[in-house]
Amino acid sequence: MDSVLHTRGRFGPRTLLITAAALPLTGWTVHALALHRKLAATRKDPLTGLMRRDAYTARARQLLNRHGDTAAVVMVDADKFKEINDRLGHAAGDTVLASIAARLTAWAGPRAAVGRLGGDEFAVVLELPTARRALRLEQLVRMLHTPVTLDDGRTVDVAASVGAATPHAVGSYDLSALQRAADAALYDGKHSGRALLATTAHAAVPSVNGRRAGRPGTAVWGRAA
Ligand code: GH3
Ligand code: MG
Repeated sequence: MDSVLHTRGRFGPRTLLITAAALPLTGWTVHALALHRKLAATRKDPLTGLMRRDAYTARARQLLNRHGDTAAVVMVDADKFKEINDRLGHAAGDTVLASIAARLTAWAGPRAAVGRLGGDEFAVVLELPTARRALRLEQLVRMLHTPVTLDDGRTVDVAASVGAATPHAVGSYDLSALQRAADAALYDGKHSGRALLATTAHAAVPSVNGRRAGRPGTAVWGRAA
């Protein structure tokens, strides 16, 4: 006590006052940082590190506003993913999902919005100029059909279906409308090994997730084209 009260020189009363005032501030800073980290964690899917639906949606809308006509929405759903879980176990399935996420991130680049919407379903919003669209979607399909190596060295054949939608093709800048159309195109070409570009007909598909989509005239790109 005495030594504290009689602290002189470099640690005078002024220093004590500042320290005393700073202590609660430090506490609050630590608290705020912890809250910030927690919040960031809830925005991210722990398995893949991708944004969850809410965070993805906010970022995707920003990108649509920014890029307008040159933006594209791409939906991806793994093919026969349940079989991978059943045959090789849930851990292998998890590795495949993480690989799909890493491939989407690498393909889309740092400025894109890449999200895991749930299960084996993913979405990307990015700038995708018309002149490069076909080539880039072909590249994505190839990446998603590259076998995945598991931790124990085994390889798993994987596949995924891809549907894309652009404001020009769908006639809307609305994220939900574009996702619906891209999803309808995805299900139109499910298991075909091709990426399908949505048309206005896909935008008008009345079913949830496009699962009852017909086969409207569609541009296709991919391995089986
Ligand atoms: P389809 O070819 O028609 O897309 O069928 P699918 O077998 O890929 O099955 P579907 O897309 O309908 O369902 C996805 C499955 O993914 C359902 C669920 O068992 C599994 N799944 C969902 N979340 C996870 C996860 O975090 N890890 C693993 N390993 N599996 C998951
Ligand atoms: Mg699937």
